[in-house]
Amino acid sequence: MQHHIYSIVDYYKGDFYFTYDDKELICSIEDSLEYVVKEADLADFYDKLGNKTVIRPREDRSISTTRLLDEVGYALASSEYQREFVMIQKDGTVTELPQLDISKNHVLKDYDNKGIVYDVGVNGDKVCCIKLDTMEENVIPHITPGTTCYPMKNGKLCCFSSSDQDKDADVRAKYTYHVYDVESNSDYVLAETNKRPGTAYYTGIGNDLCVCGDNIFIIDVADDKKKWFRVDKEGDNTLLTDMDLTIETINSLKYGTVKYEDGTYNCPSCRKKFGTFYKEYFILSKEYSEHAEDINTDLKEDFTYAKSEEIENGLEWSSHKCEVNSDKDEIYELEFDTTVNDVDIINDRYLAVDMEREYWCMRGVPPQEDNYQLLYDLETGKRLHNKDIFKGSEDEFKDIVARAIRNFAEKEIQEDARGDLDEIYQYAYEGISIETADLSYEKDYVIVSYAGEGLPYSRYPFCIEISYQDLLGKDTLEID
Ligand SMILES: [Zn+2]
Repeated sequence: MQHHIYSIVDYYKGDFYFTYDDKELICSIEDSLEYVVKEADLADFYDKLGNKTVIRPREDRSISTTRLLDEVGYALASSEYQREFVMIQKDGTVTELPQLDISKNHVLKDYDNKGIVYDVGVNGDKVCCIKLDTMEENVIPHITPGTTCYPMKNGKLCCFSSSDQDKDADVRAKYTYHVYDVESNSDYVLAETNKRPGTAYYTGIGNDLCVCGDNIFIIDVADDKKKWFRVDKEGDNTLLTDMDLTIETINSLKYGTVKYEDGTYNCPSCRKKFGTFYKEYFILSKEYSEHAEDINTDLKEDFTYAKSEEIENGLEWSSHKCEVNSDKDEIYELEFDTTVNDVDIINDRYLAVDMEREYWCMRGVPPQEDNYQLLYDLETGKRLHNKDIFKGSEDEFKDIVARAIRNFAEKEIQEDARGDLDEIYQYAYEGISIETADLSYEKDYVIVSYAGEGLPYSRYPFCIEISYQDLLGKDTLEID
C-alpha cells in the first residue's frame, strides 16, 4: 500500500506541485482561470526510486521533487532506516553510495549539487564529505558531528563554534563561523563575532547566517542595534560590512549597558564546588534619570542578593554535605544563568528591567525558568513594588488577579486539560498576595506569572495579562 505525503506543496515556476511517494502532480491555473492538473515528467525517476524514500537537503525540507532535481541535479534516496543511500537523477540514472555505510555509524548530514556530508561514528569524531565530481571522500577539517552547521549551498558548508572568553567584561563569548569549500577541500574562517551581555535574547544561533548567491550575511550587534552584516573579503582578512539593515533595537543597550560576572559557586564551609554561574546586571545611563546612581546601586544589590540566594538554594538542591571523602561521589554541578532580557521606560517615567533566570538542577532535565522584573521610578530613583502601585486592599488585589487567572484558564486552556474554574480561582485567591505576586509592568498591560493548581503542568509559569483598567482603574501605569 502506498501512503502519500501531502505535507509537501511547493509553489515553483508559477505552478503548485503536490508531492506523493510515487508521483508528483502539477496544478496550474490557466489564463482562462481554468484549473489544470497534470503529472510531472518523473516516470524514470520514480521507477528507480521504488519503495525508497527521498531525503531532502536541510536547506528546504519541503521542496518538490521536480525542484530538487532541477536545482541540485539529483535526489538522495534511502532504503528503510537509512541503511543504504543512492543518488537518483531525473533520467533514472542511479549511483550507488557505498561510502555511506550505516554499519560504520555514518549519519547523513546534508547534501547539495557539489557534495554529500555525513557524520562518522556514534559520538563521532569526524565529518566527511563526498566530492561529487570525483567521488573522492574527504575529512572536513575543524568540525565534529556536534558542530552547528547551516544548510549546505553550492558546495559551501558554513559551521559555527563558540568559545568562552575570559574576563573582558564586555564579551561573553566569541562566535567563530567557518566555511568548508567542497571543491577545494579546505576551510577558512568566515567571520568572528562577539556575544555581548544583554544580547542573549537577540542573538540565537540558527537563523543568524544566510547565504544568498555569492554573498553571505551574518547577524551581529553594533551599538544598540541587531543588524545584518555582509561578509566581505579584503585580501586574507574578512570584514563585516554594515548594511544598515536593522532588525531591532536592543533596549538594554539603548538605555544603558549590561555587565556580567561568572564563576563557580562553592560551599561556604568546605569550599567544595557545587555549581557554576553566569549573571548579568543592567546599568542605567545617567541621561535617563538624575537618580541613575541610586538605581544602579539598587540593581547591583539585587544582583548580590540573588547570588546569595542561588548559593543557598544550590546547596539544598545539590544535597551537598560537607563530607571529607565525598570526592569519590560524582557531584552533578548546578548551573545558574541570569540574563537581562529586556529593558523599557514606560510613560517616560518608569524603568522596567526584565530578568530571566534559568537553573540546570539535574542531568538531562531541561532548566527551570523563572522571570522577574525590577521596576524603578526615574523621578525619585526608588524601586517600586506591587504595594507602591496598587493602592486597594489585599482582598481586592487577590480577587482581581484570581479572576484574571480564572478567565485565562477558561479562554485559553481546553476544558479537559484544566481543573474546575471555581477551584482555580479559589486556589489562586489563597496563594496570591500583594507582597509576593510576580507581576511585570508593561506599557499597555500587566503580566502575572503564575503556575498553580488546576492549570496544566508547564516548565514555565503561564504569562497572564491583566489590563491596567482592571488592576488600577486607569488606562496605563500611573501612580497616585
Ligand atoms: Zn560543604
